[in-house]
Amino acid sequence: MAYDSNNIFAKILRGEIPCDKIYEDEHVLAFNDIRPQAKAHALVIPKGPYVCSQDFAEKASDAEIGAFTRAVAKVAKQLGIAESGYRVISNSGPNSHQEVPHYHVHILGGQPMGKMVH
Ligand code: C5P
Repeated sequence: MAYDSNNIFAKILRGEIPCDKIYEDEHVLAFNDIRPQAKAHALVIPKGPYVCSQDFAEKASDAEIGAFTRAVAKVAKQLGIAESGYRVISNSGPNSHQEVPHYHVHILGGQPMGKMVH
């Protein structure tokens, strides 16, 4: 999986494209999704160049993975949905219809999310 540094989240990280920032630290950036699919819809992305979930888990350091996991909880708190609950999903790879080839998770909440089909 080669990382394409021209993807839109790489441009956001370089400050070439704006975003509605929620949270940032050394390893992570979080911002509101421009096409929200729930009352609360944020994206959390690592600052490192990882294409998808598999790439991130296999190549990122423990510090990056730890910061990422904690950032999801921090963002949920900042959005006021930590107690009411939320869904975290990640599209990873072609079959998932991942649009942006920079690893990210969606945090969706602020309303009942409906039961997942399984
Ligand atoms: O399908 P995938 O998980 O890759 O979805 C990418 C998400 O990034 C979409 O929900 C889209 O609205 C969002 N996006 C964004 N800001 C951009 C470009 C895409 O929030 N500038």
